[in-house]
Amino acid sequence: MHELNQFKNEVREWLQANCPESMRHPYRSDADICWGGVDFKFQSDDQQVWLRRMADKGWTAPGWPARYGGGGLNREQAKILKQEMKRISARPPMYSFGISMIGPALLKYGSEELKMQHLPPIVHGEIRWVQGYSEPNAGSDLASLQTRADDMGDHYLVNGSKIWTSYGDKGDWMFVLIRTDTLAPIHQGISLILFNMNTPGVTTRPILLISGKSPFTETFFENVRMEKSQVVGEANQGWTIAKYLLTHEREMIGDTGNLQSGAELLSSIAVKNLGLDNHRLANPALRTDIARFEIDEVCHQLTMERARDEIRTGVSLGPAASMFKYYGTELNKRRYELLMSVDSHEALNWAGAGNRDGLLPKLWLRSKGNSIEGGTSEIQLNIVAKRILGLPA
Ligand SMILES: Cc1cc2nc3c(=O)[nH]c(=O)nc-3n(C[C@H](O)[C@H](O)[C@H](O)COP(=O)(O)OP(=O)(O)OC[C@H]3O[C@@H](n4cnc5c(N)ncnc54)[C@H](O)[C@@H]3O)c2cc1C
Repeated sequence: MHELNQFKNEVREWLQANCPESMRHPYRSDADICWGGVDFKFQSDDQQVWLRRMADKGWTAPGWPARYGGGGLNREQAKILKQEMKRISARPPMYSFGISMIGPALLKYGSEELKMQHLPPIVHGEIRWVQGYSEPNAGSDLASLQTRADDMGDHYLVNGSKIWTSYGDKGDWMFVLIRTDTLAPIHQGISLILFNMNTPGVTTRPILLISGKSPFTETFFENVRMEKSQVVGEANQGWTIAKYLLTHEREMIGDTGNLQSGAELLSSIAVKNLGLDNHRLANPALRTDIARFEIDEVCHQLTMERARDEIRTGVSLGPAASMFKYYGTELNKRRYELLMSVDSHEALNWAGAGNRDGLLPKLWLRSKGNSIEGGTSEIQLNIVAKRILGLPA
């Protein structure tokens, strides 16, 4: 206990000295999020300094072993770091599919060479990773994927395409699911391979969304050379690893608190916009919905915290990730529906005016994608029914 208290004091002092003042506010827009990567343009010196200082401590990946650049913190220490960051509303120094997705898969299934090659650059935000799972005819039914590899001895030649690659045009490396054995049963002929997006034969094409933005690409492979040394785990055994990676993705997406650390409470925004009537929110219908939402959100966060404690003791989250993904993303959609109601007719002000930048309607529309990305709500409910409740298929 004494040691933990000492650690807490050290963390508090370190954050006080090293977290720039401008990094002690919640994200206001997408531009505030640091993704790292070869071509990432830092929004400010503070953003860059904050990432570097945290990465040098290994605290961008606090629980990863120190030999791979991580913080080497145990479960209590990692929790203290998170609490202390929250106490001063410190932003996460980076948002990274490397840390939340491929890193955990490498730690569990990767060879020592792959870990040493890829994990330290992830910790330092030097490489931005993207995910190549979905295909035009393989979304929910992911194992039907058709992008295929020809075996050329020490490498594969890959042909096919992926779709809905988030930030595909900004990625430095991709972790991709490829059919490396076309004759085996569908779950047994898939490999998870890592490759550099600059490899000849890789092209991306933007997909425009309703918001006018294009955070997605289609990604095409034409005779792309992928090294066998970059296969994670055994060749043709990628399906197990892909599912393990998905549990981490789903936990990340389901964590509603992740991007909203230190954000203003919905109830405070409502009070500002709608005013009070006899010390209570003036709109009784919204008052009930907002109270219910905030209670549900706290319960969700506490339940996730409990599950994380279990993970840190070595218990795998497994199918429970689907429960969190389902509940967290439905909650996030409720948050944006309520924010839109609280903002009344102003909410649809797309272009923005005065101090409003038109961000809310775009975030509201973006939230609709939460219950699709990483596997739809229907698919999560199927997993919960089958693997947690034990209902018949
Ligand atoms: C914001 C966002 C980001 C994404 N980023 C990436 C990324 O970076 N990389 C990547 O590879 N993919 C990404 N995706 C793709 C995502 O994983 C797929 O969209 C998702 O898995 C659903 O697949 P689909 O779009 O093919 O829909 P489909 O599988 O065609 O599903 C259509 C509808 O049918 C329902 N359905 C399908 N099968 C069943 C079933 N068995 N039982 C009940 N209902 C069913 C679904 O729930 C859905 O409502 C992203 C998607 C979004 C929205």
